[in-house]
Amino acid sequence: MTTNDELFGRAKHAIPGGVNSPVRAYGSVGGTPRFLVAAQGPYVTDAEGREYVDLVASWGPAILGHAHPGTVAAVQEAAGRGLSFGASTPGETELAELVEQRVRVGGAGPIEKLRLVSTGTEATMTAIRLARGYTGRDLLVKFAGHYHGHSDSLLAEAGSGVATLALPGSAGITAETAAQTLVLPYNDLDAVRAAFDEHHERIAAVIVEAAAANMGVLAPEPGFNRALAQIVQEQGALLILDEVLTGFRVGPAGWWGLEAAGVVPDGTGWQPDLITFGKVVGGGMPLAALGGRAEVMDFLVPLGPVYQAGTLSGNPLAVAAGLATLRAADDAVYAHLDRTADLLSGAVSAALTAEGVAHTVQRAGNLFSFAFTAEPPRTYDDVRAQEAWRYPPFFHAMLDAGVTLPPSVFEAWFLTAAHDDRAIGRVLEALPAAARAAAAASA
Ligand code: PLP
Repeated sequence: MTTNDELFGRAKHAIPGGVNSPVRAYGSVGGTPRFLVAAQGPYVTDAEGREYVDLVASWGPAILGHAHPGTVAAVQEAAGRGLSFGASTPGETELAELVEQRVRVGGAGPIEKLRLVSTGTEATMTAIRLARGYTGRDLLVKFAGHYHGHSDSLLAEAGSGVATLALPGSAGITAETAAQTLVLPYNDLDAVRAAFDEHHERIAAVIVEAAAANMGVLAPEPGFNRALAQIVQEQGALLILDEVLTGFRVGPAGWWGLEAAGVVPDGTGWQPDLITFGKVVGGGMPLAALGGRAEVMDFLVPLGPVYQAGTLSGNPLAVAAGLATLRAADDAVYAHLDRTADLLSGAVSAALTAEGVAHTVQRAGNLFSFAFTAEPPRTYDDVRAQEAWRYPPFFHAMLDAGVTLPPSVFEAWFLTAAHDDRAIGRVLEALPAAARAAAAASA
């Protein structure tokens, strides 16, 4: 048997850092990453043959559970007809229509047209290019701690791996590019107004995670997204709502759908100009999308002047996985995720409280994470000020007990429809020892 240690050692010779995406290296929790060989339902299996209850779910896509039979069958069927055509397929239109229909509340929604790409990074990168092309303006506003993928304009003070590795951004991004992105504190509308006052008619777009979930989970304060949409509209800029993580995960129409339906307080009555999707929309295959009003979307080539293209865009296997996943992700799935999120987040909190560990439960719909601080954070600075050093021992105690958590305190925990009583029972059993480890940790 090859061990995880041996595999990581070998990978480090062949691949920078041994990984193809940085958080996988366990940099902030230490230890050896588990090399996975299979995943089924709520479980993953590593190369040593050990099974874990998985609370990463491929960082979101596996909403139905790993290797969901319907999705696997759809991909197999599509594969039998050809892996990639580089030409239009009927499935692409079906998926675009399905997304448009799902992201409607009370008959109205923000999507008239949708373009498929392969990654969330491409979706947000294209959205900002489109916003610049449409408005003829150059500046972009983002919020500190929000992650929108790794394109040059969007890495400043980003969350996810950038937060995990405590980086301000990335080397290799020119000063000119960095200067075109204004980074503001989250949940701070005064800062948004001040930015528009100062850079009058230069701001093309504001991009915001629908609910922040890449600095741990940090939901917008009630009414924040609506007020943001109003300011942006008054100023003639575009609002890009990034639902790559939240889209079709926190509800059938994503976070926007929860706000529009009044599930989230003070959220009704607004629409983004552009909206980006990834993860669940591709059902575990490389597929993402951007959509919005036809008037804006038609600025994309071949109708308009804004360039975007992709050899594998709308790949038939990815489209098949996306269609199968969205069709199966019904109300019962979301009800299960909500219930399980309540149960599990409550149990983790109770275990930490029992050991006297100061923490807050961070929730946005069925997404949750925990911040090791007594004061509920509002901003990235608040999140970074927590006792993050309590997380690695907590993480490793859970791993030793057969539960894979996100290997960073700055990431959300993900559930699937396949997390049943047995799987959740195993997580609950592991919690007391993990909470003790967090309590015993020192800076
Ligand atoms: N936007 C958000 C909100 C994300 O969470 C992510 C990835 O985690 C991205 C964009 C980038 O997506 P991808 O990793 O597919 O490039």
